Amino acid sequence: MNRFSMADCTTVDAALSQLKDGAVVKAGGVDLLDRMKDGIEEPTRLVNIRNVAELRGIRETDHGLTIGPLTTLAEISDHPLIRAQYQILSDACGHAATPHIRNMATVGGNLLQRVQCWYYRSADFQCIRKGKDLCFAFDGLNQYHAIMEYATCPSVAPSSAAVALLGLNGSVELSSAKRGKRTVGIKELYVVPDANPTKFTVIEPDELITAIVIPKPAPGTRSAYQKYGEKESFDWAIADAGVVLEMDGDICRRAVIVMGAASPVVRRSPQAEAALAGKTINEETARAAGKVAVEGATPLSMNAYKLDLFPVAVYRTILLAAGQRDRDPSAAG
Ligand SMILES: Cc1cc2nc3c(=O)[nH]c(=O)nc-3n(C[C@H](O)[C@H](O)[C@H](O)COP(=O)(O)OP(=O)(O)OC[C@H]3O[C@@H](n4cnc5c(N)ncnc54)[C@H](O)[C@@H]3O)c2cc1C
Repeated sequence: MNRFSMADCTTVDAALSQLKDGAVVKAGGVDLLDRMKDGIEEPTRLVNIRNVAELRGIRETDHGLTIGPLTTLAEISDHPLIRAQYQILSDACGHAATPHIRNMATVGGNLLQRVQCWYYRSADFQCIRKGKDLCFAFDGLNQYHAIMEYATCPSVAPSSAAVALLGLNGSVELSSAKRGKRTVGIKELYVVPDANPTKFTVIEPDELITAIVIPKPAPGTRSAYQKYGEKESFDWAIADAGVVLEMDGDICRRAVIVMGAASPVVRRSPQAEAALAGKTINEETARAAGKVAVEGATPLSMNAYKLDLFPVAVYRTILLAAGQRDRDPSAAG
């Protein structure tokens, strides 16, 4: 690991004033320090925001929820209002990583963690996401990689919270000392590698996430998230699904279906959503939606199993959201 200095900040203004000359934000440090220890990132200065109290906490507003980016995954998953009304977010944060990590990991850092592709994570591989020409996963070990929308880089979206927040139509408030505040939707937050392989998000180096905003769910909303992994304990998803259903009695007025580890950035499945709209949710309609969720997918040499796994993840999560099935005991986390 390289030598670096650290600026400990206790206010947003102090943190923003330190974000210059290549300084990097440190929240819980779980992902950032991994990258530094693995030698793939060498910032000379860290801006520690961990003690900025105004960036922590969950607040109900007239329009929905505002969550401070330093709120931990554990605090979100245990929050009574989130458990009751935003189940998808409680599920996603409560089943990420391990209890220890969930106590340390912040939701802002979770959204901005980098991909887990082992070629990207190794200092021995200079891949396209580090500004070189090659992607080693296409001809290499690609069993955990993407099955959709991956022309340039098939690494997959790692953030469980992003799946939930896309499902809930969430957005982030970004603040900069020079340009003030702007709001960016979760979908627009991420840069697809085909557009720019070295830029992961639209956040500029002098910007901080200062809030996460979630609109109030429409009446009759039910939701859920489930993640499937290679093992039942800590690990990132190899397939995960987030489902938000707006119900009129037994009929699904509108569905939002999100898939995480299918593509380089979190994506909604318009086909699966259309398959549920105006229908009664049952075993048959849920299975049909799961099936169309992978329409058009093109697996790599080692991950065709995801063509079977994603439909199951989507179908079971639809039934969980609809209250017609308990949480799947084979789901991970
Ligand atoms: C064994 C293991 C299993 C895991 N499993 C999962 C899983 O299943 N699902 C999942 O989603 N995650 C998983 N994780 C990842 C973990 O949840 C993230 O590493 C963690 O949430 C990052 O949060 P942090 O606060 O530590 O971020 P940090 O490491 O401090 O920061 C991460 C990135 O975000 C930037 N950043 C942080 N906060 C801000 C802010 N407010 N404004 C601007 N930039 C900011 C940092 O500069 C850095 O680039 C796992 C991790 C481990 C080690």
